[in-house]
Amino acid sequence: MHVMPLSCCVFVWLAAAPCFTAPTLMPAGDSPPSAEPQVDVKRATEYLQRYYNLQEEPEGRTKRSGPTFASKVKDMQTFFGLNATGVLDSGTRETMGSPRCGVPDVEEYSHIQGARWHKNVISYSIGRYTRDLPRSAVDSLVESALGVWARASGLTFVRTHSRKADVAVEFATYAHGDLHPFDGPGGTLAHAFGPGPGAGGDVHFDDDERWTAGETGFNLFVVAAHEFGHALGLKHSRNPQSLMYPTYRTFRSTNLLSGEDVANINALYSPARVHPNYFSRFGRSSQQNPVPSGPPFPQLTQNRCAVDLTFDAVSLLGDATFFFRDRYLWIKHNEQYDIKEGPITNFMPMIESSIDAAFLVPRRSTAYLIHESTFWTVKGSLVKGKPRALSHFGFPAWVQDVDAAVHLVKTGRTLFFMHDIYWSYNENRRVMDFGYPKYISQDFPGINTTINAAVPKEGFIYFFVGPRVLKFDYTQKLVVGVERANSWLGC
Ligand code: ZN
Ligand code: ZN
Repeated sequence: MHVMPLSCCVFVWLAAAPCFTAPTLMPAGDSPPSAEPQVDVKRATEYLQRYYNLQEEPEGRTKRSGPTFASKVKDMQTFFGLNATGVLDSGTRETMGSPRCGVPDVEEYSHIQGARWHKNVISYSIGRYTRDLPRSAVDSLVESALGVWARASGLTFVRTHSRKADVAVEFATYAHGDLHPFDGPGGTLAHAFGPGPGAGGDVHFDDDERWTAGETGFNLFVVAAHEFGHALGLKHSRNPQSLMYPTYRTFRSTNLLSGEDVANINALYSPARVHPNYFSRFGRSSQQNPVPSGPPFPQLTQNRCAVDLTFDAVSLLGDATFFFRDRYLWIKHNEQYDIKEGPITNFMPMIESSIDAAFLVPRRSTAYLIHESTFWTVKGSLVKGKPRALSHFGFPAWVQDVDAAVHLVKTGRTLFFMHDIYWSYNENRRVMDFGYPKYISQDFPGINTTINAAVPKEGFIYFFVGPRVLKFDYTQKLVVGVERANSWLGC
């Protein structure tokens, strides 16, 4: 639902090559500043209305010049570091004609400024693709563009196929349902909505552009990285070296961020703002961050490759697997080697306890994180509301905790394991199945000790028991493999 666009951004880059000439204005000629052909004034007016909050004249006509028009031209010239004359000179017209991002440049006109996500794990989805590039290339460029911000901030992006992703990416042309129609080739390249519900965080690319992975057409990685900056709450920068500069340009290296970009993302997402007691950056990110952004609070870390490492809970969430131990969390993306880690509160600030058991119900895109006799609901990557009582699932009163839980899509059942017994919960009817609890050893031969965690994968249940994982074939009722628990974290 595109109800409250917090801001809309269209990405058009200053293009050196003539093929990038935007349709907004005629190419700049040698006409003197005083010559303001009607057509240029009309286009300049549209530009200023779109990006500089120039109000339309009540009778629908626009004056050629006048205090408001001239002062808006000055605002625009100031933003771009041009001579602030208020006159539509050739340099001004040229800049106005450059492909650019659709998000307005002036603060009071852009409602997203300062908005942020109140969490560190942000889900994204890719809806309609472009035909300009193979899907796998789009996936990879989008992921790389998010990686630009992840490395600078400690934010984690998790891909999901849910329609409720925080950041929904798609390609569209002309009117596409959000009151900000695209304009055909050139001009507006893309736009994004700032953090928030509904359309908040969504990023749209104009599919009338030619999207590429190289230097011809428009580079999707560069434009996407800029738009994701808006999706995270950043506004336009006046610094031509910054990724958040409004017009398009190509970059020589994959390091797109200026010091200003890094400082701005850290101002929004410094760990101190997420949780006052921790300053923790993950892995290489901290060394790559050129801007120190807080006092060196003690860092809580755990060695994921310790030989006897056990987990309290393991669950899928989006396209990643979450491993909980004490108040610590590792997140492994299913398709990548990259692992994020840190105190649970770094990712889910509301959860200040350990997690005993966790499971995902994919058709609801919802995970349930259980701590003793309460549980949290996590949708996408957002912890919803306050913890609820475990008795919600229909347990008898004497059940005050569980060891592990796993949801099986095939049967629509969630199994809860406790000591040597287990329950079966019907997620469709939302009731406990009749005849439970049963003995684990009866239905899961080979599983004879307390289960720490359980997770479904490729038709098997993986039971984490101490430092080992048992691969269980539940149609044959047989343990078919054993491995070290932390081999799942690349150890
Ligand atoms: Zn922008
Ligand atoms: Zn749109």
